[in-house]
Amino acid sequence: MSFPERVVVVGFGPVAARFIDVLEPSVVSGALQLTVIGSEADAAYNRVLVADVGVGRTSPSAIGLSDADHLASLGAEVLLGTGVRRIDRARRQVLLEDGAVRPYDRLVLATGARPVIPYLAGLNPDPLHPTLPDGVTALRDLADARVLRAVVERRGDVVILGGGILGLEAALAAAEEGARVTVVHHGDYPLARNIDDGGGLVLASALRSLGVRLVSGAKAVGLEQSGGGAFTGLRLDDGRLVSGDLLVLSCGVRPRVELAEGAGLPVSSGILVDHSLRAHHDEHIYAIGDCAEVRCASPSCGNCSGNTAPSGLIGPGWKQAEWLAESFAADLAGASSGAQRYVEAALPPVLMLKARGLDAVVAGEVSADPWAAHEDGTAVALWADPQQGSYAKMVTRNGVLQGLVCVGMPRAGAELVLLFESGAVLPPDRSSLLRLDGAEASASSASSVTDPAAVVCRCAGVSRGSIEQAAVVGCSSVAEVSASTRAGTGCGGCHADIRTIIEQHFQQPASV
Ligand SMILES: Cc1cc2nc3c(=O)[nH]c(=O)nc-3n(C[C@H](O)[C@H](O)[C@H](O)COP(=O)(O)OP(=O)(O)OC[C@H]3O[C@@H](n4cnc5c(N)ncnc54)[C@H](O)[C@@H]3O)c2cc1C
Repeated sequence: MSFPERVVVVGFGPVAARFIDVLEPSVVSGALQLTVIGSEADAAYNRVLVADVGVGRTSPSAIGLSDADHLASLGAEVLLGTGVRRIDRARRQVLLEDGAVRPYDRLVLATGARPVIPYLAGLNPDPLHPTLPDGVTALRDLADARVLRAVVERRGDVVILGGGILGLEAALAAAEEGARVTVVHHGDYPLARNIDDGGGLVLASALRSLGVRLVSGAKAVGLEQSGGGAFTGLRLDDGRLVSGDLLVLSCGVRPRVELAEGAGLPVSSGILVDHSLRAHHDEHIYAIGDCAEVRCASPSCGNCSGNTAPSGLIGPGWKQAEWLAESFAADLAGASSGAQRYVEAALPPVLMLKARGLDAVVAGEVSADPWAAHEDGTAVALWADPQQGSYAKMVTRNGVLQGLVCVGMPRAGAELVLLFESGAVLPPDRSSLLRLDGAEASASSASSVTDPAAVVCRCAGVSRGSIEQAAVVGCSSVAEVSASTRAGTGCGGCHADIRTIIEQHFQQPASV
């Protein structure tokens, strides 16, 4: 190792930003020499809010997470708009697209994920170098957001391919800002892979009432293009044409592993790293965020026996970034015990639709038939009011929530998620949960989950106890709690919960 140690970070997304943030004191002290290389023209920003930029609700500067000039003033080298082409593990250096090289003692790969480009006639099928025609975007970065913005601004026709959460969130936001929006998707209703029939039908009708047109059960086969090659419509296999000014591809993401793969490092869904976040077989290379798959080589490791594919969510990436930066700092200070292990928190996946005017949440096993006689203690409670756009399904086993669907009932949904994650037994009168959204419920009706360990902000992994503690020391607004704890700095879906906790502490309405 050289002194100061040379740390090179490839990728400058939100996870790299968090890593650099935590490592900043070591840069300032001169204990390490940091180089950050990002292929985007912008320094890191909160990618979760890219659709909000696309519909004009916020600006690129408001979602910035890093300041390249500030980092440079601390002595870090920041290369923007520059991709890393290859890793030369033998010489321990990276080769940039412009031919330059940067040597490293430790290399951190934070290369994230890329959108899946579906096979459609008229789209470039090269997944590594997708060249999308005019009028087609994948809504992953700020350049994509600018393309969407231009169409939303002139209230154009936006066609969204994919009925998953991100597609629906973009659809609702664009429709609310005045665009004409059509969502084209496979299933009978959106979120078909996750939600049950009743919830899906209520969700579909709520989407329609908010101005989103749905083309369900559709299989897209190709693009219709103008003479100049720009998108004019999406052709379906039954011959139908969905016309539009812009096609937004929302068909999932795939970890960017090619750099690691090209260097001979083992990859599965993501770049394989052990419980030190170190790549298998190379002690100088690490991976974090959407590109990283934490799976150690031990066949008997209980943490690595199930599905270890990257979640594509920001929460685990931020945790990894903090953990790795702290472990680097400890190494540099000679304080590392060498015994710490990064283990992915075992929070079950929860799908949350974050949109103005429509809340939906789905988690766990939701397909159980409410009318069947279950012999394993399974019971199903259902509530549906399709005219009002509200639906709730609670699947319990011996009273413990195994799965939930909640549409149009934000407070019941939030409460059910807390109960689901804590494994608590539901109250025998399930309707008490539904009443949280009733007209008589007060703005700060107490949650039955008061466990300080309950996670309120899933993005930043902040517990109820930490938010209460922030309120105790004087934070009286969501912004103050965010600044103090980082709660609410990701997708923002927990802002209402943070506000409620502050209100419960101060017993008066909290400001934003
Ligand atoms: C519209 C949208 C909404 C989302 N909503 C949510 C949400 O509600 N909740 C949630 O948890 N997550 C959400 N996500 C996912 C979240 O944004 C990602 O989990 C997060 O961005 C991962 O961060 P990352 O830094 O690991 O990777 P990325 O954000 O993908 O950043 C990786 C960076 O590395 C760069 N790079 C790649 N290869 C190279 C190379 N060879 N050389 C140099 N640079 C390179 C890329 O250009 C990119 O800038 C959303 C994503 C999108 C697009």
